[in-house]
Amino acid sequence: MVKADGYGHGAVAVARAALAAGASELGVATVGEALALRRAGVTAPVIAWLHAPSTDFVAAVQAGVEVVVSTPGQLDAVVAAAHRLGRTATVGVKVDTGLARSGVSERDWPDVCALLKDEALVLRTVMCHLARGDEPGHPLNAGQAAGLDDRVVDLRRAGLRPQRVHLANSAAALTDRSLARDIVRTGIAIYGRSPVPALGDFGLTPAMTMTAEVAQVRRIRGGQGVSYNHAWVAPADTVVGVLACGYADGVPRALSNRLPVHINGRRFDGVGRICMDQLVVDLGHDGGGVTEGDRAVLFGGAGVTAGDWANATGTIDYEILTGIGGRTERRYLPPDSMTPWAARARSS
Ligand SMILES: *Cc1c(COP(=O)(O)O)cnc(C)c1O
Repeated sequence: MVKADGYGHGAVAVARAALAAGASELGVATVGEALALRRAGVTAPVIAWLHAPSTDFVAAVQAGVEVVVSTPGQLDAVVAAAHRLGRTATVGVKVDTGLARSGVSERDWPDVCALLKDEALVLRTVMCHLARGDEPGHPLNAGQAAGLDDRVVDLRRAGLRPQRVHLANSAAALTDRSLARDIVRTGIAIYGRSPVPALGDFGLTPAMTMTAEVAQVRRIRGGQGVSYNHAWVAPADTVVGVLACGYADGVPRALSNRLPVHINGRRFDGVGRICMDQLVVDLGHDGGGVTEGDRAVLFGGAGVTAGDWANATGTIDYEILTGIGGRTERRYLPPDSMTPWAARARSS
């Protein structure tokens, strides 16, 4: 799954890495995301399953993107696109087996089955999404799997031959083999984050390390208020570092005054408001040996994780990771060099 720009890691780079590592196909939410992969030269099968009325199905069919539909209306639109292009369209169906979000409802199912027989369509995928995949053993998981299997039987009875049936997300793929069908749709796990933190890290290594350069180091007097509203006042003479990174880059402003960072392996506290473009770190009275140009590790590699940020701000690490972006520069390391950035920088 490389939706949401590869969970904030860069969809194209993740797609290439995943395919090189053996992934058989890619999944994104929208046709727009799928077309961006095609424009970057990714030719592997891509499914897209979330469509608003303005979705350009002609462009999707033309680019060989597999449109996975949730309504008869979407299927009609794909048929129309295929006719307009004078070619067949590969499609999938997402069925609602209990999530009650997108997916073909029970009511629409007979219509969808009938429409799928259109000669302009080739049915490839039948999928559903779990409501409680991160609650291993919950009876709804087996219930949704059985619902999906029933729909596949319906389709076979109608003379259709789906080629790919799947429902497992990362949590299901890692905790319950009985939910595997032809393939699994791993998202968060391929980025090295646990889909069920309560069960541990499953031996996964977080792929993303977020760092920021120390833009400025300066001495300030005790009693001096720092950054907007002077939300932190230096209790004594100290040295602060200004990092070129802020909430526009994905650092939650809610972590103001409680953001630990690591510089050259030492832990320092973020102080004062986290601003749009910068944040301030207390380096202590001796400056902690930090100089301008050093790299601060915000999470990944140095003890702090995206999950810690999530816990501290009342969210999940999915939201933290997908929020990293804007002008953030991404640097990709070869798979065998997943050493924390700071350690690499020091050793090179
Ligand atoms: C996001 C998504 C996934 C991946 O979920 P993870 O929890 O990140 O593994 C799988 N399937 C669908 C339909 C999704 O929307």
